[in-house]
Amino acid sequence: MSTIISSASGNIADEAGPTNSLESANEPESKDLPAVENRLGVALVGLGTYSEEQLAPALLETAYCRLAGVVSGNPEKREQWRLRYHLAENNVYGYDNFDDIAANRDIDIVYVVLPNSMHAEYVIRAARAGKHVICEKPMATSVDDCRRMIEACREARVKLSIGYRLHFDPFNQEIMRLGQSKIFGAVNRIVAKHGMEVGSKDQWRLNKELAGGGPLMDLGIYCVQGALYTIGELPVAVNAKFLPKKDKDKFSDVEEGIEWEMEFPSGAKALCQCSYSEEGDLLRGEAARGWFELQPAYAYDGLKGKTTEGLIMISSINQQAAQMDDFALCVQNNTPTRVPGEMGLRDVQILYAIYDSAETGERVELHLDAFQKLIEI
Ligand code: NAD
Repeated sequence: MSTIISSASGNIADEAGPTNSLESANEPESKDLPAVENRLGVALVGLGTYSEEQLAPALLETAYCRLAGVVSGNPEKREQWRLRYHLAENNVYGYDNFDDIAANRDIDIVYVVLPNSMHAEYVIRAARAGKHVICEKPMATSVDDCRRMIEACREARVKLSIGYRLHFDPFNQEIMRLGQSKIFGAVNRIVAKHGMEVGSKDQWRLNKELAGGGPLMDLGIYCVQGALYTIGELPVAVNAKFLPKKDKDKFSDVEEGIEWEMEFPSGAKALCQCSYSEEGDLLRGEAARGWFELQPAYAYDGLKGKTTEGLIMISSINQQAAQMDDFALCVQNNTPTRVPGEMGLRDVQILYAIYDSAETGERVELHLDAFQKLIEI
């Protein structure tokens, strides 16, 4: 193993990537880490691609929490997961008996990984069952739902966080530092792009009722987040335009692509674009004395960064493991999460202002002062 010093930032990092070995899974790395049985129990709700390919493997690498239960509508899938992850029979639920989770002392945290419009119902049910909650992005498909979710968690005195894994990623953290600490001077322009080929038409991501919208809800949210944490300011207005539809049948319910500009109080602007038919993965800040960027910026790994001064040399980590461990520690120590429900609400407000602007062709003003405390690193 070797260490690398970044020419741009002076960051010192270890070159080794995340450990993926199942053999080392659930083995405390040091005497100070809790034994497996003392780690907080997480139940995943919705066993789709993200749960299967990212969250469950990440829970084999976490130090402060572990996969303790699952919730799925599919009995065969439940059984497969139970056997694969050695889950107790009592820790496996369907959607119909999900509320019984209240009596399960093995489950501390419920992680909602369902289609977007279902987040509200399951976050509220989890809160009422007395469980701390992580909710996937986007938090919900309406501002009202976000508020109801926050209120339910407040009433139940449980913590709520959003699955914003990039706040725990060292590359994105470096962008926050370079931008917010004005290492190259004040940021005056941000460029953010996120796009991918979405696949077949019959999926929930192309169904407005389930997804709340198209690529803006799914991918554009990363550009919104990225722009805000690069500059450390809240946008005061947005101007947006839908991109022309190349496949009108596939994108009959949601947009195929959208571009928008966000205006910040300092006068800086963010130019953003997202698409379900064109690849893109960029976050770039341009400042008075230089620029810095990540490309790819939003992926699970393989992120690459450079600045006016050279490459950003940082090692990848398992973002999801870091995110879930951070939340487990917040629960254990009763400290606030840096990605709370209020941040999810803020972003859903921005997303719907972007849609509003694209639909009306008007500049839409935002009044987000209440969220000021969420913006600093
Ligand atoms: P997916 O389609 O792979 O899985 C969705 C799961 O929900 C499936 O198990 C499906 O059976 C279940 N489901 C229950 N009711 C359903 C219904 N009415 N219609 C469709 N599916 C239903 O989706 P995914 O990619 O795992 O995404 C799930 C959530 O996770 C979304 O909110 C998404 O935005 C989020 N996500 C976040 C990241 C991230 O990096 N943070 C990455 C991928 C997905």
